[in-house]
Amino acid sequence: MTKDELQKLYEDLELEEKNLRKQLAEIAEQNPAIRGDYQVKVPEYGEHEDENAMEATDLDRNFAMERELENKLNEILKTKEKIKKGTYGKCESCSAEIAPARLKVRPVAALCISCAKSGSKSN
Ligand SMILES: [Zn+2]
Repeated sequence: MTKDELQKLYEDLELEEKNLRKQLAEIAEQNPAIRGDYQVKVPEYGEHEDENAMEATDLDRNFAMERELENKLNEILKTKEKIKKGTYGKCESCSAEIAPARLKVRPVAALCISCAKSGSKSN
């Protein structure tokens, strides 16, 4: 990957990070102690039975959403770090170069295809 391509990717990641943080802020609060960690806000609609049921449903949904958004955010933070350190595009497991075609489809990929297939880490 050329320097320009990396720069472009970094900017794309920043945009996506902003976007994810905005979505996260709606359902969760940032944990000031841990970077990239969020805690789901508990909705408070009221004390009626149906309101409590709605709170529980929304809370379940928010937990699932928060997990997904947080995973994505952490992938982006990790990828940005790698671009800065100059290790972007290397497999985290075997250090081989990750195929450019794979990075094109999945810029935050941390493993090469063979490690991703055989690895314990889901990617
Ligand atoms: Zn590998």
